[in-house]
Amino acid sequence: NAGPNDLRGFRVKLVLLGDSGVGKSCIVLRFVRGQFDPTSKVTVGASFLSQTMALEDSTTVKFEIWDTAGQERYAALAPLYYRGAAVAVVVYDITSPESFSKARYWVKELQKHGSPNIVMALVGNKADLQENREVSVQDAVDYAEKNGMFFIETSAKTADNINKLFECFVSHRDFPLD
Ligand code: GDP
Ligand code: MG
Repeated sequence: NAGPNDLRGFRVKLVLLGDSGVGKSCIVLRFVRGQFDPTSKVTVGASFLSQTMALEDSTTVKFEIWDTAGQERYAALAPLYYRGAAVAVVVYDITSPESFSKARYWVKELQKHGSPNIVMALVGNKADLQENREVSVQDAVDYAEKNGMFFIETSAKTADNINKLFECFVSHRDFPLD
């Protein structure tokens, strides 16, 4: 029988937001299939994938993942995906200050229109491209702290921190259960 902290059968609706090209789909593909496809296609509208993660205590968490398209012309659809989401993962590319500013736009949007107890993570992806870094860790940490978000840098290419990203939500147990 499920105890109070038992996550068996627990489902987490998660949405990814961020500029087009920051690597949202690659993060999902890495997490769900353990693969990186450098020729992956642009997401049209949004796509859905689910992944059940086994935890150390042999319980599981099922992530229901909505991967949105970052393009302007789909922006009006975004509320369909983030409304009702327990977790929002806002992704930027550490080599692109424009994508970091777009990430801040999404955070504000979520604060205004998302569920009031939504859990947010700020993710700096493409951390393998250190030599092209244009967004400092410090700027991102400061912003995440100010906005009560998790912060992590990932690489979908090398798989660095991808599992850790999803694991950080598991230890956060204030989700509405369903
Ligand atoms: P999305 O529009 O946010 O879904 O971005 P995609 O997942 O389609 O990725 C956009 C481009 O960035 C693709 O060419 C990927 O190969 C590349 N990419 C994604 N993640 C990484 C990463 O961690 N490192 C590097 N070097 N390239 C990445
Ligand atoms: Mg995509």
